[in-house]
Order: sequence, then structure tokens, then C-alpha cells
Amino acid sequence: MKVKLILPALTEAESPFWRPIKYSLFPPLGLATLAAFLSEDDDVDLQDQHVEVLNLDDNPDLVLIQVYITNAYRAYSIADLYRRKGSYVLLGGLHVTTLPDEAAQHADTIFIGPAEDTFPQFLKDFKNKNPKKLYSSTVRTLVDIPPVRRDLIKRNRYLVPNSIVVSRGCPHHCNFCYKDSFFGNGKSFYTQRTEDALSEINQLPGRHLYFLDDHLLGDERFARSLFDGMKGMGRIFQSAATVESILKGDLIEKAAEAGLRSVFVGFETLSPANLQTSNKKQNLGKDYVKAINRLHSLGIMINGSFVYGLDDDDKDVFKRTVDWGVENSLTTATYHILTPYPGTKLYSEMENGNRIITKNWDMYDTRHVVYKSRNLTTTELETGYRWSYDEFYKWSNIIRASMHHESDKHKLKHLFYTGGWKKFEPFWNLIIKTGHLNDMLPLLEKILSQVKNPASELQTEFPLIIRKTTI
Ligand code: SF4
Repeated sequence: MKVKLILPALTEAESPFWRPIKYSLFPPLGLATLAAFLSEDDDVDLQDQHVEVLNLDDNPDLVLIQVYITNAYRAYSIADLYRRKGSYVLLGGLHVTTLPDEAAQHADTIFIGPAEDTFPQFLKDFKNKNPKKLYSSTVRTLVDIPPVRRDLIKRNRYLVPNSIVVSRGCPHHCNFCYKDSFFGNGKSFYTQRTEDALSEINQLPGRHLYFLDDHLLGDERFARSLFDGMKGMGRIFQSAATVESILKGDLIEKAAEAGLRSVFVGFETLSPANLQTSNKKQNLGKDYVKAINRLHSLGIMINGSFVYGLDDDDKDVFKRTVDWGVENSLTTATYHILTPYPGTKLYSEMENGNRIITKNWDMYDTRHVVYKSRNLTTTELETGYRWSYDEFYKWSNIIRASMHHESDKHKLKHLFYTGGWKKFEPFWNLIIKTGHLNDMLPLLEKILSQVKNPASELQTEFPLIIRKTTI
């Protein structure tokens, strides 16, 4: 059987703000995971429109398309095309789960929720010529799922081909997040067995890994055993964690020992009222600066994420947030305009309050305002959002933020990482065009190499002296 797996490009990937490097980071692991359930005899083609021109001239028997909100229209038109040609078309993903009736108009079968349990069932039914219109996931486990079909991934087109996901979901319930609707009919947070995760890691070439898990430290027991297993492997990795998990116990030290060198942290907002209304309990009342200092003392770089347009935000929110990020030496920052995704609690609240101003899903890219904000106009929000990027990534601010670190190595790493990421666009474009993106991995590994701040080096060497002087 001929099978085509497609990740259509997100609409924002074609906007004037498109940074090709941003969309050439991670391969479509979700599709490669489902491909593992196909038969060895199947002829499988995995295409990612972010890094290649889609070939739509073929005639596969089965087409599976992954749908996000901002690639939905594109996904539907590709689906319609293949259906006209006689292929059997499947749609799945976040947007399909939240708006199944909309997606079903463009598919022969749709998948609700994660598809690791339902896709194999579909394949059986399809073989027996009795596929259902809809498969909804209820069984949630990563035990005994076959290894991801990494052979289908065109590694040289991605900066981070060693992306890996060892859990699904997250233990929290932020009201703007898709998580609760996607994992609606069952467990919303579960992990691989540690031995399976370690075995997958072992098979990845090179040193660098990027864990795409929503919250790698979310299950403390699993994370602890994972980091114990990784210790001594010589890996360096990046991942995401919450403020709460960074402050709690010694898990973050374990992660650093295992090779954690950079972490994505959803600070979201500096306003406790905003945290409260967003149900972001894991941040509420937590000392952000303490978490940052702890990460810096371990030599871990920070990508801070922020949301603008929550009800407690006013015109000063942009400057306040950017200044805070620079003062606290965040390595990189991502800013988002609040976006009420269908299926989320936030969306229901906005809909009930008559605050949704467009249902053009292409606009739901966190760069546009799609709802009535309380204290800011659409222009203020969009202008402030763009200003934040320009301001945070000004050379003067990059240098200022770098210089706050204690060790020279940390200062230089910060400077190279942030400058390299944001200031050399033509260079990245050339590398992507010439197909050498993957060759940049050793440079990334170098920049992510270990730093110890002078205090922690002293602490290891002279623990008693330090203790005496600090008591
Ligand atoms: S912590 Fe992150 S992944 Fe978890 S619910 Fe909140 S926004 Fe979603």
C-alpha cells in the first residue's frame, strides 16, 4: 500500500515575519510515530512543507494529514485534492480534535486525541474494508509502541533532527492551553517507561537532544530515573519545565548533571491576577527570580515565554516585560498575543462574553489579535508585541543581558546563542538553501557545552568555606 504522511506548512510560515530557521528546527515526530504502525511492505512517504515543496502529483492509497489551527485551511485543500483523486484521506491533530465537525467535511476518517491506540485499529479496519468515520482515543499508554520511524525523516533539513518526546501531555490545566481538550477522554499526562526512553536516546547519533515534551520534569519519579540513566551518557539537551519544578527539590540539579543546558520556561505574565485568571497555579506565588538564579547557577540558559493581552495587562506591559527579561538575563524570549484556541476554557469564556472578533483560523497564530482585549486596543497589542521582539533582541540589550552572568564562558555563550539565533538571518537562509543545516549541529553543541559559575565551582571545591561564610 502507498501511504503519504503530510505536515502542511503553518500559515505564519509564509508571513513576512517568516524566519525559515524557526520552521526548520524539528521534524514531524507525530507522523513518524504513527508511521511505525504501518507494515514493512508499505511504501511510505513523509513530507513536511516547512522544509520541502510538497509533491502532490502522486496517487497514494492512504493520506494522513496533521492539522494545526493555522495550517487547517491548507490541510483541508490538500485533503480535498487527494479525495478527488481517489485516495482515502485521514485527518488528525489538535485542530481536528477541537473542531471535529469542521474537519470531517474534508476527510474519510478523523482522529480525536492522540492516535497511538486508534491508528492501529483503523489500519485493521481499513484492511478489512470497514473503516469508521471517526476514531476517538481513550486508551493512553506509551508502553509497547513501536520505535518512531526516524528513517522517514530527512535529517539534513533540520537543525535539531534529534528531537524526542518521552511523555504526552502535562499535569497542569492552564485555561489557554489545548492540552485538556486534546487529552479530553482519558489520561492527560503519561510517560514512556524509563528503559524505553533511554533505549531511544541511545539510538540517536551525536550528543545533542531536544526533548519536545510539554513538561519534562512533570512526573518527578520518571524524570529522576531518566536523568539517572542519562548521567554519564555525554548527552547535552534542551527541554521545557515549569517555574514550580525548577524551584522544587533537587530535580533541576539532576537534570543539569544529565546534560540539561537550556530550558523553555512559560513565565507567561508578571501579574499574579493574570496567573490566577489563566489558572496558571504552577507559577502563582512562585519566585521567578529565584528560579532564574538557580538555573543560571547551574549554567542552564533560559528561553522565557510570555503572553500579552490578558485582562490585567495595560499599555506598560510590553516595556515592563522586556526590561524584566533583559535584567534577569534570559537568553531568548518568545512573546505571544493571547489566543483563545477553540476547545479551550479561554475560548468558551471569550465566546460567552461575546469577545471573539474573528473565526478566521489563519489569524490564530499568536501574532494577531482575534478577541476584544480589556485594556488594550488591537493596534496597541500588535504594535507592543512587535516592539517587544525588536527591543529584546537589540544588540545593546543582548550585550546587557549577557554581561549579568558571573563566568566569562556563560557571558560568551549567551552572546553567541542569542546573537546567532536572531542576528544572522541571511546566514541561516543560505545554510537552509544549500542543505547544510544539520552541519551546524556541532556548533550548537559547542555553544551548549557546560559552564559552571564561579560560585558553584567554589562550592564543589570548598564546601566548608562557603558554608561558613554564608551562615
Ligand atoms: S503548563 Fe504548558 S502544557 Fe501544561 S497546561 Fe499549562 S500551558 Fe499547557
